Amino acid sequence: MLLIVPTDKFPGMNQEAGKFARIVIPTLLKEPLIYKVPDSLWEQIEIGMRVLIPLGKRKVTGVVLELLRETVVQGTRPILAQLDDRPMLDSALLQLGHWIGKYYLASLGEVFGTILPPSLRSETRRTITLNPGTFCVSDALEKRILDRLRQSNGKLSVKRLTRERYGGNLYVAIEQLESIGAVNVRERLPGHRTRNERTFLELCGTPTFEAQPRLTLNSEQEHAFRKIDHRLKEGGFETFLLHGVTGSGKTEVYLRAMEEARRAGRGSLILIPEISLTAQLIDRVNARFPGRVGILHSALSAGERWAQWWHIVRRNVDVVVGARSAVFAPIANLGLIIVDEEHDPSYKQEEGLRYNGRDVAVVRGKLSACPVILGSATPAVESYQNSLEGRYRLLEMKQRVQQRPLPFIETIDLRSKFHPSEQPNAAKVPLPTDSMPVQTSGEHRLISDRLAVFLRENYRASRQSLIFLNRRGFSNYLQCVLCGHVLRCSYCSVTLTLHKKQKSVCCHHCNFRRAGTVLCPECGNLTLSGVGIGTEQIEEVLRRLVPGARIARMDRDTTSKKGAHQELIRSWEKGETDILVGTQMITKGHDVSGVTLVGALLADLSLNLPDFRSGERTFQLLSQVAGRSGRGDVPGTVIVQTYAPDHYAIQHLIHHDYKGFFAAEIDFRRALNYPPFSRLVCLRLEGPKFEEVEKKARTLGALLHDKTIHNARVRGKIEILGPAPAPIEKLRNRYRWQLLLKGKQSSSLLELARQARQALPRSRSMRLHIDVDPYNML
Ligand code: ADP
Ligand code: ZN
Repeated sequence: MLLIVPTDKFPGMNQEAGKFARIVIPTLLKEPLIYKVPDSLWEQIEIGMRVLIPLGKRKVTGVVLELLRETVVQGTRPILAQLDDRPMLDSALLQLGHWIGKYYLASLGEVFGTILPPSLRSETRRTITLNPGTFCVSDALEKRILDRLRQSNGKLSVKRLTRERYGGNLYVAIEQLESIGAVNVRERLPGHRTRNERTFLELCGTPTFEAQPRLTLNSEQEHAFRKIDHRLKEGGFETFLLHGVTGSGKTEVYLRAMEEARRAGRGSLILIPEISLTAQLIDRVNARFPGRVGILHSALSAGERWAQWWHIVRRNVDVVVGARSAVFAPIANLGLIIVDEEHDPSYKQEEGLRYNGRDVAVVRGKLSACPVILGSATPAVESYQNSLEGRYRLLEMKQRVQQRPLPFIETIDLRSKFHPSEQPNAAKVPLPTDSMPVQTSGEHRLISDRLAVFLRENYRASRQSLIFLNRRGFSNYLQCVLCGHVLRCSYCSVTLTLHKKQKSVCCHHCNFRRAGTVLCPECGNLTLSGVGIGTEQIEEVLRRLVPGARIARMDRDTTSKKGAHQELIRSWEKGETDILVGTQMITKGHDVSGVTLVGALLADLSLNLPDFRSGERTFQLLSQVAGRSGRGDVPGTVIVQTYAPDHYAIQHLIHHDYKGFFAAEIDFRRALNYPPFSRLVCLRLEGPKFEEVEKKARTLGALLHDKTIHNARVRGKIEILGPAPAPIEKLRNRYRWQLLLKGKQSSSLLELARQARQALPRSRSMRLHIDVDPYNML
């Protein structure tokens, strides 16, 4: 019988002496268990290694957190095998795991299930094959291995050898045999064929980025680099906020810092937002560190990810480039962490363990005693405030490289020309073709005459244009012009978006899809009409507006196939696309010198979200997309079409004035006591029955209110907003209510959230999600 109790819970109980390990079993069990370490393994096993252990009738992968010489746990079961020849996670990563568990209120099982990719949670198969020839070995164990191999036709699994218990360090012996060329060791993940898969790098295609000589840093770059370099040489942790306008050459500063880290024999980690993980940046890093770059990204297959982890653990790489989850890359000798576009929302994980990759990166830097660079043209309000308060060191780059001017930005007020007769483009939107409704109600202006003129001219001058609209699909939703009925998702409280090419309407939250129709399901008339525009419609409009132009669209619909994103970007970089239309995917990262015109349509879409960050988000998105233009010799022009030209986010955007924007935004945050002046924890209850969720949410709300009055540790320190239905009240057939906890100190907030979890034991139907430092509160 296995008791699941931590050793320190029962100080009075009999301690059993021996060799034990505390092992976390990622995903499967919340809390670590104690296992016995067989004598044969005691010398080899280290903290941070993966081991194979029995769990019930299964054999599963665990990670050793601690080695113990005694335990009160009776009847521990033994570890079956060691899975790695070295620790997968170093002590800083293990500490990071513990920090994450405490800060995000997650169990260690969840935490390590997030850190270790799934392919490393299942057992790998290692096979040894004997090479032809005679080899001279003196070590007894090595001799026995060779003999054993000969007996079995020159091929054996490592697992088999482990089971036969030869004593001594099998892994060292195998490695030694491999190094003299006597054997080959092949590792394979069961169920994943790695051989015939196209690798991510292959998919990136041929680099368009020529390996160029190192650039001479300009004075601003030099100044920023020297500060970072100083820290690298001194050693120790420090966070830099590199605030550099778009095109100021931040990447070059990163590359220099990474080179310095390598010179000191340490690895670097560079995080970039998921969507902008472009081949371009990988090319630039590859050109500097040929063959020494690891890549971690969601487009990798399980097998590829597994191979990348192994490369990193084996120290075959100096630099790891990756998206959010790469913050857990097993770089043992970590010397530098960079978070590019640190303000980007994609650093926030919105499912499962809801961590913020940027914040975790800063903590990892602290635990690894290395510098962290947060880079952005539009820093998150929290980060900038941190720099003003001295927690981060601010480094500024105010000029674009080579004195290139920032683009000229103008707005077009959509309100001023609201008269339908003045909307020639809207009127040209096609009438139904096939059986699909494509009529638009004309409530939105699509592309203004002025923007159209610019687009045509830019095309004639053989320059590239970018059109940004943060909404995919053809029409935002379908409504019956006769009875007013709107097509809604059967599972979520949102409308369905029309996708014309796919001849269907689709929910952007749960992906529910059904065939498009022109018949109103309510009144049966042929009167359904599309309302609101999306990128698919804009693409169609552009084809008529700029005949002959090569037009491509980049959004989640056109990039769902593996490699599609890379192909689109490659052709954009090569100048084979004249006009690229897209959602926020097109806004960041790319440095393409042919782009001279950017048009932002319905630029205030993001202003209308019920979210205190909507102003910040809008300013960031538009600054990013504007920053794509004028990166070559020809200055850029940006046309922003908006219904809210006077909003401070748009006003400061026009003047490239981040500080002005920040000053206005911070006043608003202070007045309403929002972050960075407070911290938030969102508690979300979800369940299949509306009444039940509401009732539980109200009970929980009353209970927490009570605690803020009577519990000394949280008294007077926390404001509770809600409970109220979430803005998206139903998602994937589950109703959602939320409570927002707001307070100055995270300790008391976490304390109250912990009490909420205790008060609401996990049940099959009802769930409580705790989101610490929430980003998306829809
Ligand atoms: P950011 O990331 O700040 O938007 P990038 O790092 O993409 O800017 O740099 C913009 C362009 O300027 C790139 O093409 C880069 O090669 C070039 N560049 C960077 N530093 C220099 C420099 N010191 N001299 C000349 N060109 C530079
Ligand atoms: Zn849905």
